[in-house]
Amino acid sequence: MNTVALIVAAGRGIRAGGSAPKQYRHLAGEAVLTRTIRAVLASDKIDHVMTVIHRDDHGPYDAAVAEIDDQRLLPPVIGGVERAQSVRLGLEALTEVAPDHVLIHDAARPFITAPVIEAIIAKLTNHDGAMAAVPVVDALWRGGDGFCVDQVDRSGLWRAQTPQGFGFTAILAAHQTNTDPKAADDAAIARAAGLDVALIEASTANFKITNPADFARAERQIMAHAAEYRTGQGYDVHALVEGDGVILCGIKIPFHRSLSGHSDADVAMHALTDAIFGALAEGDIGRWFPPSDMRWKGAKSSIFLEKAIERVTERKGRLINCDLTIICEQPKITPHAETMIASLAAIMAVDPDRISVKATTSERLGFTGREEGIAAMATATVALS
Ligand code: MG
Repeated sequence: MNTVALIVAAGRGIRAGGSAPKQYRHLAGEAVLTRTIRAVLASDKIDHVMTVIHRDDHGPYDAAVAEIDDQRLLPPVIGGVERAQSVRLGLEALTEVAPDHVLIHDAARPFITAPVIEAIIAKLTNHDGAMAAVPVVDALWRGGDGFCVDQVDRSGLWRAQTPQGFGFTAILAAHQTNTDPKAADDAAIARAAGLDVALIEASTANFKITNPADFARAERQIMAHAAEYRTGQGYDVHALVEGDGVILCGIKIPFHRSLSGHSDADVAMHALTDAIFGALAEGDIGRWFPPSDMRWKGAKSSIFLEKAIERVTERKGRLINCDLTIICEQPKITPHAETMIASLAAIMAVDPDRISVKATTSERLGFTGREEGIAAMATATVALS
């Protein structure tokens, strides 16, 4: 039996917010579509995967599949305006492949699992169609003007998901004779053509990313399975010299001295950057930006921190939190802490509540106590999936 998964990714996904269609937005370092294709390919009962894309999306599609090295992935096909039209065009493009079965799946459901895929395929031996769904467990009310009007019996009600699987010839014919371009799903088109569709109980984890809040839920779902959490530490010192201010966490604080160093000498940002590199076990700033290289002379330290965060993303990880302590007698740090946190949050593209910036003196002891230099310590925790 030859089974093809047809992934529908031609929508514009505007409800999810953001500038890119939601299927190309990144989820913990990887496009939603990349995750969905990988999840489908995880079943060895799938012989081919074909994706229906929007005509403007060749670029993002190519980027999304760049690292998927699997012979089963076929070139994409261009979809239409409505979902039903996109599915029909996808099915017609499969005529040459002529599979026995086709599983039609939403690009925005990256949490599909092999057991559900395989339960659907197994059902197709004896039925025209089979779809993933979950029984309705909440009480249902019809509302009016913001009030309960009457209760709706939930018994026998299911919430449809995808994949929805069918015999290829039958669903192609159903789509070609479909007269409702706004049909909610393929099961509706199949039923209208007289096909029987079995219900396969799936999980609520196989939800469709629709709204901005769904991205946060999806990230939590991914990170719940993070392979590991790693913590790194960083420590740095720069000497104080004659000057007119110090740069800490990207913020210039007026002061009668400055920090000396090869770059902008942002000792706090250096400690934080080293903590992130440390969590990844990827050395330190000096390894990525050798001080012998004149390109980094006077450089803004944000390029170092951006690099560390880029490495977290490339490792398919996420910064969980970081904690930074600046050690000096002067200048006073606390009045600037909030601005520093906002500066770091912008550079690292994380929520400010994941960042802590605090300060201490060393009770006038040692080199920081004598105001010969400023020291900074940081820890950072990273989740790698
Ligand atoms: Mg340094």
